[in-house]
Amino acid sequence: MKVLYSEEFLKYYETGHPESPERVKSIKEFLEKKRIGDFINPVSCSEEDLLLAHTEELIKRVKESNFYDTDTPNIQNIYYYAALSCGSAISAAYIALNGEIAFSLARPPGHHAGRNTLGGFCYFNNMAVAVKKILKEHKVKIAVLDIDGHHGNGTEEILKENEGVIYVSLHQYPAFPGTGTTSFNNCYNFPIFPGSTPENYIQKFKKAIDIIMDFSPNLMGISLGFDAHYSDPLLDLPLDDAHYYRMAKQISTITKNIFIILEGGYNIKTIGNTCYCFINGLVSRKDGE
Ligand SMILES: [Zn+2]
Repeated sequence: MKVLYSEEFLKYYETGHPESPERVKSIKEFLEKKRIGDFINPVSCSEEDLLLAHTEELIKRVKESNFYDTDTPNIQNIYYYAALSCGSAISAAYIALNGEIAFSLARPPGHHAGRNTLGGFCYFNNMAVAVKKILKEHKVKIAVLDIDGHHGNGTEEILKENEGVIYVSLHQYPAFPGTGTTSFNNCYNFPIFPGSTPENYIQKFKKAIDIIMDFSPNLMGISLGFDAHYSDPLLDLPLDDAHYYRMAKQISTITKNIFIILEGGYNIKTIGNTCYCFINGLVSRKDGE
């Protein structure tokens, strides 16, 4: 497995903000300790790449630091970091298209960024940019599975009604951003009430997997968040590390062309091991299992 990672992702922060450099740092250290993954450096995406998913207006606003959002701080040079995160996602998608699992261990996350909107700690939509770029250049079917604990409203908005792709999300509802209550067109939403049992979550997960199996993708993108873990401080979902491991094992039976993009997950003490368990579940696939 390839891991796209850069020390640059540690260089920006907002004091007290849950989307901190420690998140990617702790996951990176955990994977290194477990000797899992070949680490490679990402490169920034181009403005042309961003335009596949976003308006010129949003790109300009981020570039010129001309925006205000309480959750999504206006940090110096944030355009550079957001474009590097998108570039990392694109590389992960290409590596997966060529048959190797790839993980974009990057920040800022992206799934709340819409065509013309930033929000929810997201500036540009890493997943949507990567998917649109692959779809532009290759005739493939791509399934996006979003198992971050929040609904990926931005990814849904950008990918809805696009041919060759489905968007499937499991997320807490009610919770931020308040969307994802129903399925429509190529978007399949599984809202989960706060305080639900793991059995309830896993039952919905199996339905999500069935939809993806029916679609029969050549490439699968996973928006991975660890805020569906019971220990996460922001949400009230029930998964533990063993659930992440088993979910990944199931995902690994769909296709070998899988890329993962880091979204949320805010418990620094637990996300390293949870991420390791998930990746272990993906890469430990043996035929016939
Ligand atoms: Zn989240």
